[in-house]
Amino acid sequence: MQVVREPKAFREACEAARATGARVGLVPTMGALHEGHLSLVDRAAEEGATFRAVTIFVNPLQFAAHEDLGRYPRTLEADLEACRARGVDLVFAPDDGAMYPPGFQTTVTLGELTKPLEGVHRPTHFSGVTTVVTKLFALAGKCVAIFGRKDYQQWRLLERLALDLDLPVDVVGHRIVREADGLALSSRNRYLSSEERQRALAIARGLRAANEAWQAGMRDAAALVEIVRGPVEESFDSVDYVAIAEPTTLEALEGSVTEAVLLVAAHVGRTRLIDNLELGVDPAP
Ligand code: AMP
Repeated sequence: MQVVREPKAFREACEAARATGARVGLVPTMGALHEGHLSLVDRAAEEGATFRAVTIFVNPLQFAAHEDLGRYPRTLEADLEACRARGVDLVFAPDDGAMYPPGFQTTVTLGELTKPLEGVHRPTHFSGVTTVVTKLFALAGKCVAIFGRKDYQQWRLLERLALDLDLPVDVVGHRIVREADGLALSSRNRYLSSEERQRALAIARGLRAANEAWQAGMRDAAALVEIVRGPVEESFDSVDYVAIAEPTTLEALEGSVTEAVLLVAAHVGRTRLIDNLELGVDPAP
């Protein structure tokens, strides 16, 4: 496994792989890797990638001043070991200065898709994400890029980004990987005390109940939201949103729905968790 720290070296390694006929698979992450991230590496192979690159970069642009940039877990040695064990070919782990050298002043901002949900509560977050991912796409070149549906809105807007800017990147969304008890894997789960982790299960419980109601024929948007909101409000310290949206545009839905995704963001202690369920598509949490 090759490990590079400089953007130029990352570009050259991807180009060299393509020159041998390989299909490049790209898995962008912020590190503190867990099975959710590593399942994206497996998915890249299933999508035909024969040269798999993982990027590890805690992107300061996507954190607001009051957020957890300073305490975000950084576990590079363990991450490299996990990548090696999973058959990753290349890791790109730049430092802040390599990605944002002095004078850097370009941001990439998407439109409507960034406004609801996360956009309301983290208004500067997505432009940080789309700026860094545009750079990673530009460096990687023609590839298939795998993102988790755990960050559902992010996945949808990165799909849009590749389309709108004619980037040679096939964006694929991979299903959410969960613990046996339903908790969606997240690097931020390591912030949770055991008592908080117990409370955090309310999201999976709510989504599971909504899924059962959906299976039983319930189609009313507000009623489905309430099924999730009940347990989440009871167990979490504060709730940013429990919402139901059209899966592609993420527009809020009302009345009777045919296709929908339920999305949740809530705080337990100092930790903010997000999760979602595509009704009729995802397995029960
Ligand atoms: P992060 O390191 O949190 O920025 O995540 C990097 C990528 O891994 C993103 O595409 C996430 O959506 C994805 N990811 C994180 N957690 C999970 C999970 N539990 N299941 C599937 N994908 C995930």
